[in-house]
Amino acid sequence: DQAREHGAVWEDHSREMEGSLDWKLSLVGELDAAMAAEDLWVAYQPKLNLRTKRIVAAEALVRWTHPQRGDIYPDSFIPQLEKNGRILDLTLYVLDRAMKQAQHWREQGAAINVAVNVSAPLLTKRGFVDAVRERLDDGRLSPELLTIEITESASMEDPERALEGMRRFADMGIRLSIDDYGTGQSTLSYLKHLPAREIKIDKSFVLTIEDSASDQAMVRSSIDLAHELGFDVVAEGVENAAILEMLRKMGCDYAQGWHIGRPVPARDFVKLIAQDAAA
Ligand code: C2E
Ligand code: MG
Ligand code: MG
Ligand code: MG
Repeated sequence: DQAREHGAVWEDHSREMEGSLDWKLSLVGELDAAMAAEDLWVAYQPKLNLRTKRIVAAEALVRWTHPQRGDIYPDSFIPQLEKNGRILDLTLYVLDRAMKQAQHWREQGAAINVAVNVSAPLLTKRGFVDAVRERLDDGRLSPELLTIEITESASMEDPERALEGMRRFADMGIRLSIDDYGTGQSTLSYLKHLPAREIKIDKSFVLTIEDSASDQAMVRSSIDLAHELGFDVVAEGVENAAILEMLRKMGCDYAQGWHIGRPVPARDFVKLIAQDAAA
């Protein structure tokens, strides 16, 4: 009986998964229309400098407001776009909007560095490298105001090529960041060979830091070693004041998370900066 119950649950679950896969796959075919209609848009999440207590940067996170399905989060469509080659178009779409936004803030007097997530295989794609270079050459944004975030686990699949690609962007003066640190296999002593300026400790370690001694140890030792190797450290997933305070005591450089600010449309991000400046 137990086995049958278990079987029934599994069947339901797999049917549900099949259904959800189905609609996710069909999303790829809607990409062009969604970009044209601006159903795809960019949310900005603040990064707080823990020493100066100022908001100094924003991460650009793509959102899809689908006319039938409502808000769709990137984990539901980025993997499909990576598989079928459309990730380049999506990334340039986000990059264009993020660069324009950062330049707009700059003109308003706020130097906010904007971080764009880039899938590792794009790092060595000629079309991508050239597109980024063109965008910097025409002076639309100073490279110090741009960060490229690369997921740790993905960049390690082909380390030689990832390194080659990262060097190109570092040479352009762009800040490079290793995202989701701790979820892959790489050690910081390996990462020190990469031309990255910062590592972002994955939120899975930060969310549970209050009650998990092992996560605390992991975060503390990562911060110390990263500093010895010359990296800045960003903690993501800071959901409350207690976590923020622990990170500050551990010497973490930057923090990102709901306690500081959720990812929001650009017009709401401006309010965050204004409050910050007033405080
Ligand atoms: P990520 O780059 O690690 O981004 C951080 C994720 O954590 C975001 O999810 C953000 O909304 C979420 N987050 C931020 N603060 C908190 C917090 O305090 N608590 C919790 N529980 N979550 C928090 P999101 O926006 O769903 O993005 C998921 C992933 O999708 C991103 O992970 C990134 O890898 C990818 N992604 C987002 N936008 C793009 C894009 O334009 N291009 C590419 N290639 N990937 C993207
Ligand atoms: Mg990121
Ligand atoms: Mg991350
Ligand atoms: Mg992530």
